[in-house]
Amino acid sequence: MIHLNPVFIPGPTNIPEALRKAVDIPTMDHRSPGFADIIHPALDGVKKVLKTTTGEAFVFPATGTGGWETAITNTLSPGDKVLACRNGMFSHKWIDMCQRYGLEVEVVSVAWGEGIPVERFADILGADTGHQIKAVLATHNETATGVTSDVAGIRRAMDAAGHPALFFVDGVSSIGSMEFRMDDWGVDVAVTGSQKGFMLPPGLAITGFSQKALEAVEGAKLPRCFFDIRDMRTGYAANGYPYTPPVGMLNGLKASCDMLLEEGLGNVFARHARIAEGVRRAVAAWGMELCAVSPDLYSNSVSAVRAPDGFDAGRIVAQGLNTYGVAFGGGLGDVAGKVFRIGHLGLMTDVMALSGLVTAEMAMVDLGLPVKLGSGVAAAQAHYRETAATPVRQA
Ligand code: PLP
Repeated sequence: MIHLNPVFIPGPTNIPEALRKAVDIPTMDHRSPGFADIIHPALDGVKKVLKTTTGEAFVFPATGTGGWETAITNTLSPGDKVLACRNGMFSHKWIDMCQRYGLEVEVVSVAWGEGIPVERFADILGADTGHQIKAVLATHNETATGVTSDVAGIRRAMDAAGHPALFFVDGVSSIGSMEFRMDDWGVDVAVTGSQKGFMLPPGLAITGFSQKALEAVEGAKLPRCFFDIRDMRTGYAANGYPYTPPVGMLNGLKASCDMLLEEGLGNVFARHARIAEGVRRAVAAWGMELCAVSPDLYSNSVSAVRAPDGFDAGRIVAQGLNTYGVAFGGGLGDVAGKVFRIGHLGLMTDVMALSGLVTAEMAMVDLGLPVKLGSGVAAAQAHYRETAATPVRQA
């Protein structure tokens, strides 16, 4: 099947032509000086996108899941206690990984659709006067539910409690599409992957480590080998890599950072905010609701839309794909069958978003849902016309 349409899954995203070309380069000797001209600018670019001047970037051939593993295995020891909130499939999976590594996880479970309860974190951290909690984990943007949590608020709670725990943030579906400030928010390890805000194919785990996280590395006793940042650091220092690097992907990462920085991160985030608001207005015009329980939680990279009670949301996804060749995201875990997800992260413009809304409407009308053709699209169009910004050229 030839895919001619953009995708609306919440990652991997559509890939700009310039990045496809940047990834598709002839084989080079990765031990030659040419590799230095790729890896160092790529790492510098990642630091700028993460907004860290004091931290270091480490990029592995893996995915976001490998980034989680990099964060915990390089800094923690078996039996260490960590604090985490379960509010969707991805926060759940990171907790599961911690448990499989023999960490003791204090899990704060909330309904899927809610954000991380900063007050409860504050209480738990305040009560932990013996500082048993070694790390606080936060999923900035829960991709399963379209919920963005208050990372800065969690940092404030940690500081208010005078708590020395490390702060790990999963920014897999936020970084590069939504505001993320590693230094300002006191993030000790930031984690993402290449296939979301960086608009590349999957294949890179992208992490940033603060100086405090780097200091924890020598004392950390969890087993690690492939993801040992000490080997990666030694490789970078010698203009290389500890093993064969994914040169094309790293060249793509260099180009991706250039592209994001050329547009300007503020403009990138504003573009996603505009697009997301148009999608939300469409959802409201359809008479439907988001999974996110309140507007302060609405994600600017993915909208999880609740199907009417008793209606299997997976049918909308199937209809979109099978009839119109357009991919949306299905519901995962607790919200499987209850929501369908419109991804609008990475490479996305308002005109592209409109084509996704057109398709969602056709699929829902086909399935007999009480949605009027054009209603959501008109609401989004009105928003995009009112807020029209200088178009970003397709690179
Ligand atoms: N964290 C979040 C928030 C995600 O959305 C995903 C994947 O969608 C992951 C982690 C896991 O990343 P990956 O699938 O790249 O391993």
